[in-house]
Amino acid sequence: MAKSCKVSLDPAVCEMVEKAGRLEVETVWDRYQAMLPQCGFGETGLCCRHCLQGPCRIDPFGGEPKAGICGATADVIVARGLDRAIAAGGASHSGHAKHIAHTLKKAVRGKAPDYAIKDKAKLRKVAERLGIPTEGRSEAEIGLAVAEAALADFNEKATEAPVTWVATTVTEKRSKLLMERGLMPKGIDYEIADIMHRTHYGCDADPINLLQAGIRCSLTDFAGCHMGTDLSDILFGTPQPVVSEANLGVLKADMVNVAVHGHNPVLSEIIVQVAEEMKPEAKAAGAGGVNVVGICCTGNEVLMRHGIPSCTHSLSQEMALITGALDAVVMDYQCIMPSLATVAECMGTRLITTMETMKIPGAIHIPFAEERAKEIAREIIRHAIEAFTRRRGKPVDIPQNRSKVVAGFSAEAIINALSKLNADDPLKPLLDNIVAGNIRGVCLFCGCNNVKVPQDRNFVTMARRLLKENVLVLASGCGAGALMRHGFMDPASVDEVCGEGLKAVLTAIGEANGLGGPLPPVLHVGSCVDTSRAVALAVPLANRLGVDTDQLPVVASAPEATAEKAVAIGTWAVTLGIPTHVGVMLPVVGSRYVTQVLTDKVRDLTGGYFIVEPDPESAGQKLLAAIDERRAGLGLNV
Ligand code: SF4
Repeated sequence: MAKSCKVSLDPAVCEMVEKAGRLEVETVWDRYQAMLPQCGFGETGLCCRHCLQGPCRIDPFGGEPKAGICGATADVIVARGLDRAIAAGGASHSGHAKHIAHTLKKAVRGKAPDYAIKDKAKLRKVAERLGIPTEGRSEAEIGLAVAEAALADFNEKATEAPVTWVATTVTEKRSKLLMERGLMPKGIDYEIADIMHRTHYGCDADPINLLQAGIRCSLTDFAGCHMGTDLSDILFGTPQPVVSEANLGVLKADMVNVAVHGHNPVLSEIIVQVAEEMKPEAKAAGAGGVNVVGICCTGNEVLMRHGIPSCTHSLSQEMALITGALDAVVMDYQCIMPSLATVAECMGTRLITTMETMKIPGAIHIPFAEERAKEIAREIIRHAIEAFTRRRGKPVDIPQNRSKVVAGFSAEAIINALSKLNADDPLKPLLDNIVAGNIRGVCLFCGCNNVKVPQDRNFVTMARRLLKENVLVLASGCGAGALMRHGFMDPASVDEVCGEGLKAVLTAIGEANGLGGPLPPVLHVGSCVDTSRAVALAVPLANRLGVDTDQLPVVASAPEATAEKAVAIGTWAVTLGIPTHVGVMLPVVGSRYVTQVLTDKVRDLTGGYFIVEPDPESAGQKLLAAIDERRAGLGLNV
């Protein structure tokens, strides 16, 4: 039984990789090896196939060819490629948000009876932030107005009425700066389409103009993330601290195991409700009940709101099936490997796609409709029960690894916890501790695992370094997944991993909240769209200090970034003024000019910049230096 291996730091994953090898089931790591050596032109961003004369590629060493057939230089090709990645990321996060906006609209119009407004206070708060009148109006009326405002944000707007989910969610200073510098998006879909237009054959060939448009487009991703968070909280409740567990050990041999996988909580919320109701049917089939577990960000959504255990994340999704214990994987969209179909066939797992945007040959497709949500969820769980009856009595291999997780740290939950220290001014304890140096700064970890990095290595190495240096660490998405599987969300780890100052702060907050001990070392803020929760915390902090977000000792890191969504998130973090680390090479290094703009010159425009550093020790050091520079700027001790 392998407890360690080259591909992952997670012993449960190593155990399953060994089993996959024995069974000759191909995994993501096998396919990566078969892909080597990877194309150097693609890796450096120097390959263009935006027209049918191509593909064209530029010699990265300065030889020939120096330009594509149309004359596009390395700088143009790299900037165009980056822009398209940002647009794809923005389309994904905002598509997710648009889906929830439609669900909210159907719910308040009585067309989706299985949904209702759960957090009425948040509905009013979001409406007021958007300038929607609430006085004397019913929740259904306000909800409809909020859903319509969200959908209106997708269209091109007048210059004086930009995307509201950007203009109202950043500091006033930032909003003004974005307007003045031509970086405020006019409409979410408008900006994404604009990128596709300007990167078409024979259009924008000015690298700076291209990068400026990419930066503006990245804010469509920010708007999508923030909108996704806001509307999910309104419909499903704003997360509050909750205790659960993570890793493959949460699967149970004698239960019907159903994994919800993907990103959007619209279906998984209903699966969680229906699973409990269907316990008698599961029992009749000889199971102890239905055990719902999460994979990737759909898993994060139901963990944050209901304490549903997280099975695994991102790169190791195939390993959940290799256990032989997973009866069904219910998928919505994003970050789902098509290879699951082959693994599912080998292991007897029912693979169920549910969304029109995400079908996989070999999977069962059950089209989801909010109008019949519970009925569809029951049909899905019946598939899992049927799969269990075929599996019953057969041996399974469930690794024993399980880590305790305290999750549920929405911005509201963090402020509520701080209010137990100072009810009149909840941010004061946080600010006082930043000023005193007990909290040196704040780092948000996000992004997935990348097959090019031993799974979780960069997350774990960097989190250990920063926590010891008293940096308050927040995590979202599969970054949170990586850290939770290694015990960073267990309050019992505080003594071992945190510096003295941070330990004292986490303990004071935990005790004031009646926990009898500290908060966990890393605060789980949610799924990848919930990266917006870190901004929802940073903005009042900046306002309270009378500064903009580019002056806060706040940094971000995607140490094992994979998806185009991570490129978009990283770019909007830079646009909001945050020093942002990426731990894998971005396909921009083929252009020295573009690389220089992203890592240095962009600072003059937004205050933020990228730090590209594959070595996690060195990356931790660079983030600490960035924090200290911000502290010095505020006149704080370093
Ligand atoms: Fe080549 Fe230009 Fe066509 Fe790109 S757009 S494939 S560089 S000819």
